[in-house]
Amino acid sequence: MEGDDGVFILGVDLDGVCGDHTAAFRAVVAAELGVDAATLGPQVAWDYHSWGVDDDMFMDLHKRAVLEHRMFRTMQPMAGVAEALWKLSDAGVWIRLITHRLYTNWGHQVAVSDTVAWLDEHGIPYRDLCLLGDKPQVEAHAYIEDAPHNVEALRGTGNPVVVFDHPYNRHLEGLRAHNWAEAEQIVLDLVVQAGTMVQGQFSGLTPPSDRLRSHGV
Ligand SMILES: [Mg+2]
Repeated sequence: MEGDDGVFILGVDLDGVCGDHTAAFRAVVAAELGVDAATLGPQVAWDYHSWGVDDDMFMDLHKRAVLEHRMFRTMQPMAGVAEALWKLSDAGVWIRLITHRLYTNWGHQVAVSDTVAWLDEHGIPYRDLCLLGDKPQVEAHAYIEDAPHNVEALRGTGNPVVVFDHPYNRHLEGLRAHNWAEAEQIVLDLVVQAGTMVQGQFSGLTPPSDRLRSHGV
């Protein structure tokens, strides 16, 4: 699939792909339940039952995470995400960020403003930011996703999807990136396969992840 103008659009999920949602939410759960975060362990499933969090508790803890702990403002970025997305952007890839953070009916102002501030702080480039409730498809040529249900839905309609590796998505087959260096290379391969242009970064530019800051944004 190729856009009319030949630009390759990459749909990039935020939680679990650009930001370390598991670590951020683990810290919230530990604080709220009064336990040591280290005792909670890895997130092995899409739910949080292994952390002693049932589905009702999840909704309450998630609300506290967003509104009180300001998780979307304080989350750690995944290692190398800004650098990789800048390199892809410099190679001509259109970065379309996707967040499913508006699936609740509260807290939209905090969720959106904290998300945008976080993207600026960490120098993550994007041309579009799609604030979605539920449906995963945003007319991109390929996607990077971690949520099993979104990966399956996107693949089900014929979209190439790179799975960003986590314990909770290891049952999925197909394209998989264990880190952003791998994701960058897989996407470049997809761009070449799609027949769109790839150009290397010009030398002498500001280091990619510092570019937003150096422009005073
Ligand atoms: Mg995600």
